[in-house]
This record gives sequence, C-alpha cells and structure tokens, in this order.
Amino acid sequence: MRRRVVILGAGFGGLELSTMLSEALGEGVDVTLIDKSDTFVFGFSKLDVMFGRTSAESVRLHYRDIAKPGVRVLRETVTAIDPEARRVTTDAGVHEADVLVVALGADYDMDATPGLAEGGNEFYSVAGAERLAGILPSFSAGHAVIGVCDAPFKCPPAPSECALLLHDELTARGVREACRITFVIPLPTPVPPSPETSAALTRSFAERDITLVTGRRVSAIDPTRSVAVLDDGSELEFDLFLGVPKHRAPDVVIASGMAEDDYIPVESATLQTRFPGVYAVGDVTTAGVPKAGVFAEGAARVVAQSLIAEWQGGAAPGPYDGRGSCYIEFGHGRVGRVDIDFLSGPERTGIFNAPSAELVAEKELFGSSRRARWFGS
Ligand SMILES: Cc1cc2nc3c(=O)[nH]c(=O)nc-3n(C[C@H](O)[C@H](O)[C@H](O)COP(=O)(O)OP(=O)(O)OC[C@H]3O[C@@H](n4cnc5c(N)ncnc54)[C@H](O)[C@@H]3O)c2cc1C
Repeated sequence: MRRRVVILGAGFGGLELSTMLSEALGEGVDVTLIDKSDTFVFGFSKLDVMFGRTSAESVRLHYRDIAKPGVRVLRETVTAIDPEARRVTTDAGVHEADVLVVALGADYDMDATPGLAEGGNEFYSVAGAERLAGILPSFSAGHAVIGVCDAPFKCPPAPSECALLLHDELTARGVREACRITFVIPLPTPVPPSPETSAALTRSFAERDITLVTGRRVSAIDPTRSVAVLDDGSELEFDLFLGVPKHRAPDVVIASGMAEDDYIPVESATLQTRFPGVYAVGDVTTAGVPKAGVFAEGAARVVAQSLIAEWQGGAAPGPYDGRGSCYIEFGHGRVGRVDIDFLSGPERTGIFNAPSAELVAEKELFGSSRRARWFGS
C-alpha cells in the first residue's frame, strides 16, 4: 500500500521533506505537497529585492518546475485542518492523509501593532520588500528607524543586516551624512545565542554611527505624527520606518486547535505533535530552535528519516539536534556566519565566523544548491 503523506506548505521544511521522501521511496510513496503560492522565495532574497540588487521576479522559484517521483504539488489554500482525522480541507477539495506534516511557516500579524499597516513599511514579505525598493531611492535625508515589533521573529540577524545594508545604500548615494539610522530590537543583544556575533554586529553599528536600542520593541506607530512608540512609552520620530511585524502561526493553524501560545508545540527530538501521525516542522512550531530556514530544513530531515526507516526498515534517526548555520550580511560586500547549536548539548551555542569574501561565495552556494535540489534548476 502506498502511504499518503500530505505536506502543508512548500517552504524550506516542505520542500526538503518531499525531496527526501521522493529520493528514498520514489513512486512507492504518495506525497501531496500543498501551497497557496505558485512560487518559493528565499528569505534573504527579500533584502536583495529591497536594496535593488535584483528584482522580485528573478528570485521567484516556480513550483511548476518540481518534477519528483511520488510527489504531486498542488496550488491550493488550506482552509481547515482536522488533526485527529488527518484530514485537510482546501479551496479545491479534501485531502486524507496517513501522515500529515504541517509546515505552514509563520504569518505576519500586522494588526498586533497599531498603525504599522498605515504608517510603516515591513520588509519581511516579498510585497513589502518590493514596495521598499520603490521608496528607498527617494529617502535622502532624515531619520530611518528599523524596528522589530515582537519576538520571536524569523532569522534573528535579518534586521541587523537591514541596518548595515541601509548604511551602505545611503553611503553609495552620497546622502549618509544627512541621515540618521536607529535600530530597535526586543532582544538583549542582536544575536543572543552568540555573544561574539552580537559583539561584531554591535561594533559594526558603532563604526557606522547606527544607534542600537536593545530590549525594546515597537508597540505602535502613530502615522499622523510619524512616530514609533516603544514598549516603555518612549517615542522615536522617523522619516522612514522599516518594520519587522509580530509573527504567529497562520490563522488556519490557530483555528485547528493545534497551536498553543501562537505556535504548534512539538516533541523537539521527533517533531511529533500530540496527534498521532501528525508532525509539524519549521517556523510554525515551538521546537526550541530559532525561526530560520536551516532549522525548518533540519527538522524536516528528521521527519523524513524516521518515516523512511519505519517503512523501509533501517536505523531510525537520532533526535533532532537543532544545529544550523546562518549567513549574515555585514555590508561592505562581506558576509559572516554563525553556527548555531540549540539542542545537541547542555547549552545553546553560537560560534561566530568573521565576515569574508569566502563566505559570500558560501552563501551563494547555500541558495544555489537548494534551488538545484528542490527545483532541479
Ligand atoms: C528578510 C529575511 C531573511 C531571512 N534570511 C534567512 C537566511 O539567511 N537563512 C535562513 O535559514 N533563513 C532565513 N530567513 C527565514 C526563513 O525564510 C524562514 O525561517 C523559513 O522560510 C521557514 O521555513 P518554513 O518551511 O517553516 O516556512 P516557509 O518557508 O515560510 O513556508 C511556509 C509555506 O506555507 C505556505 N502557506 C501558508 N499558509 C498557507 C495556507 N493557508 N494554505 C496553503 N499554503 C500556505 C506559504 O505560502 C509558504 O510557502 C529569512 C527570513 C526573512 C524574512
């Protein structure tokens, strides 16, 4: 009997899981990969789009290019999930699963920050990055505030990268002297699990005259006065606001009853939810790891290996180790890397690799190798 695996969400987690199942089981498995979008975009491409390094069209990877034995990709919107019955309803029909994997990522809750939608710009969606690509070239004087509205948020180094790349962009246009940059982040340091990375970023901000405000989140935007209100009541006037909205699991996940405190709780070692035969991977979970693609991918590998071992025989995987490397744009054309390990030892660690030209090439390979593996291009 061909097992029916239904995977919700074709992001880092869903793409890696479907690829591994296809490679190991081919037509012996019946994988349905469902996504509401017709394209996938790497998170880091949003910064490239925002700063005009490339266009949104050129970073979209089309799901129609996926041709893998045993895998069917459907463009449908998931409207209901019944985890007990392992039944999924979409705008096109109903899907029954022997194994259901929820990999729907984290959505942005614009309403959680009053005024953000009207008075600020977010750079965490492709649409937001595209909009900013049109706005940034006309910002030539005044105060730019990069503000994080709540934690946890995807790719903790991304807003730091935004601040450093904004400095480069303004410098290249010869207007940096006329601008101030302030970066507000609710975390105590830019990358808490790695003191060395945080120190390097903090040094880079100081060298570039970027004001860093830690331990504070942006709780509201007053669009009429162009003011960002922080959670201690203090205010920052701005001419340009670049925001990271509050995150939470998509509405359909919240409505399914699977989530607690905005995300799906899972067994960190196995990614199993409390519902038999139902797993969850990536940003939609509270797996005890940061919200980043590498961790979604690592979690998906553990689920794939355990299903393959169960159905084919062979050794079951060890517990998910919560390891992954994140690349960090430091500006000046250099990229650093932090190697995170959240689950394999007694302590969370983050080893810093200083920015270099070699790491620029390594980051490019990170993207191109996954593009080839998942999309065959
Ligand atoms: C600016 C920025 C920079 C980043 N840089 C990096 C980086 O350098 N390295 C890194 O590892 N990570 C980075 N990330 C984070 C990374 O993009 C995410 O953590 C990662 O994509 C999470 O993978 P996922 O599989 O959990 O979810 P996602 O990749 O978000 O995939 C979820 C999928 O579910 C689909 N979906 C949602 N709701 C529905 C529905 N109702 N019906 C059907 N489909 C639905 C969505 O369309 C989406 O394709 C960055 C993020 C941002 C915003």
